[in-house]
Amino acid sequence: MLNSDASPVSVLPLSAITWQEAIRYMVLDKVTVLEWHDNWVVHSARWETRVPAVMILREYYKKKGYIRYSKMNVFLRDQFTCQYCGTSVNRKTATLDHVVPTSHGGKSVWENATTACGPCNAGKGNNKKIKPKVLPHKPSYWELVEKRKQMRFDLRHPSWAMYLN
Ligand SMILES: [Zn+2]
Repeated sequence: MLNSDASPVSVLPLSAITWQEAIRYMVLDKVTVLEWHDNWVVHSARWETRVPAVMILREYYKKKGYIRYSKMNVFLRDQFTCQYCGTSVNRKTATLDHVVPTSHGGKSVWENATTACGPCNAGKGNNKKIKPKVLPHKPSYWELVEKRKQMRFDLRHPSWAMYLN
């Protein structure tokens, strides 16, 4: 789903919707369809339609610009890099580390959460003296959006790629 300015309504996560929602937007005449799935047709007793792949909203949807504190968003802020040794991690190998351990009163907030690889996290344990190379900060909405765009998206239709720049 694209906003009326042809940028995705959201990239955190990418504004993908179900085919049922896509057809509801079409029926309500709130969108213009830019791309269709070639080999995907759905039908009821009375109608049939190809499923839209990319749609653009007729009216601009104002973004909230709010980001949630979450493990995945911390990893994204740190660009999936261990902040202690610099190793690249992925969704499976990344661990969330509390700079000041929770056992020492450390909180689960942006400023105390960082990305660590398994070995660094295990090696650090409850030692609050070991600090990450870069101290964690609260990212802005646009900082995370830019970082997300630098990563690969699982696109349902190839035509999406041109709208992500
Ligand atoms: Zn590490």
